[in-house]
Amino acid sequence: MKKNPPSWQTQAIRAGQIRSHEQENSEAIFPTSSFVFGSAEEAAAKFSGETAGNIYSRFTNPTVRTFEQRLAALENAERCVATGSGMAAILCTCMALLQSGDHVVCAREVFGSTVTLFNKYLHKFGIEFTFVKLSDLNSWQQAIQPNTKIFFCESPSNPLTDLVDIAALAQIAHQQDIRLVVDNCFCTPALQQPLNLGADVVIHSATKFIDGQGRCLGGAVCGDEQTLEEVFGFLRSAGPAMSPFNAWVFLKGLETLKVRMQAHCQNASQLAHWLTQQPKVTRVFYPGLPEHPQHQLAKEQQSDFGAIVSFELKGGRADAWALINQTEMLSITANLGDTKSTITHPATTTHGKLSEQQRSEAGIGDGLVRIAVGLEAVEDIQADLIAGLN
Ligand SMILES: *Cc1c(COP(=O)(O)O)cnc(C)c1O
Repeated sequence: MKKNPPSWQTQAIRAGQIRSHEQENSEAIFPTSSFVFGSAEEAAAKFSGETAGNIYSRFTNPTVRTFEQRLAALENAERCVATGSGMAAILCTCMALLQSGDHVVCAREVFGSTVTLFNKYLHKFGIEFTFVKLSDLNSWQQAIQPNTKIFFCESPSNPLTDLVDIAALAQIAHQQDIRLVVDNCFCTPALQQPLNLGADVVIHSATKFIDGQGRCLGGAVCGDEQTLEEVFGFLRSAGPAMSPFNAWVFLKGLETLKVRMQAHCQNASQLAHWLTQQPKVTRVFYPGLPEHPQHQLAKEQQSDFGAIVSFELKGGRADAWALINQTEMLSITANLGDTKSTITHPATTTHGKLSEQQRSEAGIGDGLVRIAVGLEAVEDIQADLIAGLN
């Protein structure tokens, strides 16, 4: 009898694991910088690439390799390359795909450090960027130039949870030979698989939900073999490699990713609905709410609605800060993807460097509060907010 290919959940537990007598049931950590060879001939063959094998952990490491194989399986990618952080994943991707004179169209709602990397550093090397509204497909189309090489986005956006139709965006990109790069950090492959929707490259900050407990920095790039060979080429020359210990932590994270994401989403959904009933709250941003402008797209594109809930308070910044200061349990930090819920005031933290006009264009008001919903009992999260909401 022919076996079906293993399901996503089984791959999350097993992909990349080799069953042998030497292998522990928990993947081994190889904390070594280099690997030794049995002979001069073997060393020469491995260095020339004639035979495969580990040489040095900046290039490859068995624990990191297992993580790469498992994440590739979950994103349905031919190959994954792990990096030392999410930002390193973005840098390696850009170095592989771009050269001076190229142009990138990027959603203006992307992670702050991504914007800095693009505008301040890559710009120095002659790469040009145009920022457009994530959800507005026309503005992506109109921003295309003859030298455009990449579309870059995150969906849903932070903190307002706007979405873009990834399949439609991929179609626009591919008409002009442009590659669509999606930072899938907010959804993870447990909720959304951009490559299956037509994207060319997926980026991860494993620091967030893949670890899920706020312990380690890491990142990854997933895509086709040829592109990833270029990404790997930059990584091995430049050096932002993932540590074997972090890879081991992320392997443990992947094993529980789906059940954790389900629990995050359930908490977030309950909190979002509850917030809509609070008198001081004027608006709640969560793709799972029927009134969210892209609720239908979220239902089709994602298997659940995510863990980020933002809401606007009547009293502007004074009320937002008062709410944050009256919490006793929630972590006041801009991080996300942790079992511990976090609360932040985007206008004065993550988006504080924007001008007032840029903020207002992006829809980030002074009364906006963002919660990255963790895995505490939702009743306790609500209890922690109630003082500030009254
Ligand atoms: C955190 C984050 C990053 C950067 O990841 P690091 O691991 O902190 O370098 C990139 N994109 C998104 C969407 C993030 O949330």
